[in-house]
Amino acid sequence: MPIFKDKKYFRVDLEKKLDESLWIRCKSCGQLVFKRRVRENNNICPHCGAYFFLTAKERLESLIDPGTFIDISEPIMDDDPLTFTDTKPYPKRIEEAQEKTGLASAIILGSATVTEIPIVIGVMEFQFIGGSMGSVMGEQICRGMEEAIQRRVPFVLVSSSGGARVQEGIFSLMQMAKVAAVRTRLGDEGIPFISIMTYPTTGGVQASIASLGDVIIAEKGATIGFAGRRVIKDTIAEELPEDFQTDAFALAHGVIDRVVPRESLKEELGKLLSLFAEVA
Ligand SMILES: [Zn+2]
Repeated sequence: MPIFKDKKYFRVDLEKKLDESLWIRCKSCGQLVFKRRVRENNNICPHCGAYFFLTAKERLESLIDPGTFIDISEPIMDDDPLTFTDTKPYPKRIEEAQEKTGLASAIILGSATVTEIPIVIGVMEFQFIGGSMGSVMGEQICRGMEEAIQRRVPFVLVSSSGGARVQEGIFSLMQMAKVAAVRTRLGDEGIPFISIMTYPTTGGVQASIASLGDVIIAEKGATIGFAGRRVIKDTIAEELPEDFQTDAFALAHGVIDRVVPRESLKEELGKLLSLFAEVA
């Protein structure tokens, strides 16, 4: 196990807004739209219906009952087991990601309610080194599941990730086995696990915890896959279908259970949770 260093640690503050600008340009239709209007419209462009990219905080706010989130993540920080340097040293990369996102790591973990049903929820932040799963995210996910077992409430995980964190090498790959092992305990204890895949859910996250939900939902438009399209194409030396790694492709091949548009995601999650609550 890596040793976690005691460094500065942030609690998630949902009230704190990093970006104060009033207007945003839609990359799809090019229109300049009023940010508040976009927010009120589930972060969907009011002109063309395109989805705006959501930060983990925005995603969380879009799914849970307002004012119910309590951060339960543990104050652990990434170690640099390989003293890894690519274009910059790994600790520097983490610091920059923390500055950019205002988060301690690539996942927010907390308790909340959805349509008044208590849950433990983890939401990945893609802007934090591609939402990659290193030792800290692996540990937070495990603790989230353990917390769900202890409280006897469902566990919900919203993925947005490029996969395992390369800067931690084998330590990040080990997280795949670790989260899968703890996930088994959720099943043994009869605790529901709902996995929500958003754009993008790929690599070691898709190949482990995100695919292990009792119910796996994809947000409409999510990219779902393991390796990148070009890598697979070159490896198998074959043409890939046009819709390869789309939500529709994953659904048609039994990788996921449902594709849900963003505006219905909270309602859908609430319905599923209430079904499980009736059984329990
Ligand atoms: Zn638009």
